[in-house]
Amino acid sequence: MIIAIDGPAGTGKTTVSKILANRLSVSYLDTGATYRSLTLKALDKGVDLSNKDVLIDLAKTLNFEIKEDNFYLDGIDVGFKIRTPRIDRNISIIVSYPEVRKIMVELQRKLAKTGDFVVEGRDITTVVFPQAEFKFYLDGDTAVRAQRRYNEWIDKGLDVTLDDVKKDLVRRDNADKNRAVGALKISKDAKIIDTTNLTVEETVIELIKNVTKDEKRR
Ligand code: C5P
Repeated sequence: MIIAIDGPAGTGKTTVSKILANRLSVSYLDTGATYRSLTLKALDKGVDLSNKDVLIDLAKTLNFEIKEDNFYLDGIDVGFKIRTPRIDRNISIIVSYPEVRKIMVELQRKLAKTGDFVVEGRDITTVVFPQAEFKFYLDGDTAVRAQRRYNEWIDKGLDVTLDDVKKDLVRRDNADKNRAVGALKISKDAKIIDTTNLTVEETVIELIKNVTKDEKRR
């Protein structure tokens, strides 16, 4: 069983997906972590991000693993390093290359092949798992999403301003919605949940309510 969740940054997708997976006793896959790890690898190697061919090679050989919800790149836990403004600023060009996406989508399908999963990202309901049993689109007001992301960076001790976080979020939203392949879209069979005025717990309850309701119907 696949529960697919898409939506823009700052809707709480990662947080609620983890909790949802835990409550339903299924596994969890954050597909953003695969693209983030590729971006980290490229930046650490000093790769010119406009050089698509080098990025395709890097994607093909990406040594990415998940163990107990922790992300490993070349055997090293990169959970902290992949969620930083440095990655956010540089990721959009990498995720825009269709050939790179094709390789990463294959990796994501392989990772989630092993059982029941909550999978979250931008193109999960439309490209990665269009046949998913459950599909959700989390949305939210831009200012609220920016504030959440700002709080996350501040909690991590990072030096950022709310204004910069908001600008970067809007830029990434536009890039995600307008790329040629794997764009962020609302799948017509997805249930839309507006998280603007919902807490994490309320969002999780809403998701569980829909999964349980549909399970009963089947
Ligand atoms: O979800 P998260 O913010 O961690 O994703 C980081 C970036 O990776 C997003 O801004 C988006 O551009 C990209 N992404 C994507 N497709 C996915 C997941 C993430 O293009 N399935």
